[in-house]
Amino acid sequence: MNSDFGWSISSLSTINQCGHLWKLRYRSDTQPESGRDLPSYAFGRAVHKMIEEIHLRGFWDVHHWIRLWDEVWDEQAKDVDWEAYPGRKRNFDRLGPGILAAYTECEENRLAEIECLEQRFEVELDGLKVKGVIDQIRRQPDGLLLLDFKTSKEPSHPLVERADPQLTLYAHVCGLLYDQMPTVGHYYLRTGRMVITERREEDVETVLGMMREAQQRVDGGLLTRQVGWHCNECVYRGPCLGELAA
Ligand code: SF4
Repeated sequence: MNSDFGWSISSLSTINQCGHLWKLRYRSDTQPESGRDLPSYAFGRAVHKMIEEIHLRGFWDVHHWIRLWDEVWDEQAKDVDWEAYPGRKRNFDRLGPGILAAYTECEENRLAEIECLEQRFEVELDGLKVKGVIDQIRRQPDGLLLLDFKTSKEPSHPLVERADPQLTLYAHVCGLLYDQMPTVGHYYLRTGRMVITERREEDVETVLGMMREAQQRVDGGLLTRQVGWHCNECVYRGPCLGELAA
């Protein structure tokens, strides 16, 4: 049982996908099925870890980071049942070094004045405990730039970028921590493209409204199973649907 629960964009997305999944993940001792880590999650964690290490250790040369990548990727990939995802491991084995080479060869990244890396936060907003991890904040001549790294394929629609709740929440928290609202951006690592948008304090109300509504669902016990094709990818598929089939 997760007794230290705080709302995050990930827990919000989980409850919106399936209330029962939220309950299993955040309110029970039920373990995910072994070998049921998701390939994209494992890959994302490995790349985030590597970018942090590259900045911390100054590993800008491929001879430095490539060995570390092998270690980090092996560690993160070990709980994925790769046989269930034909060809994916080989793709990620190639993609990881490609992404990191592009990141380390970019002058702007090398010269960035880093304010924080993988910064965990826990704050109280509107009576709700809220948690998260900010990937990176850079100090620029015109203020702070908060970046969220994406290992997924393509940028989303500009309006969705402008309204993305994660960047809104993180911008607000950055405002609390550093006393200034940052410019925010998704950094799409596959293409090297940064999509920069802005946030205003009034954007925060939308995200807080989503959290308040989610909390009302929890308080009201509205956590039913949302069974569908997405269950194929659910790490609690066995315990959840097995219980139904028993
Ligand atoms: S298997 Fe489906 S219904 Fe069950 S928790 Fe997962 S997403 Fe929800």
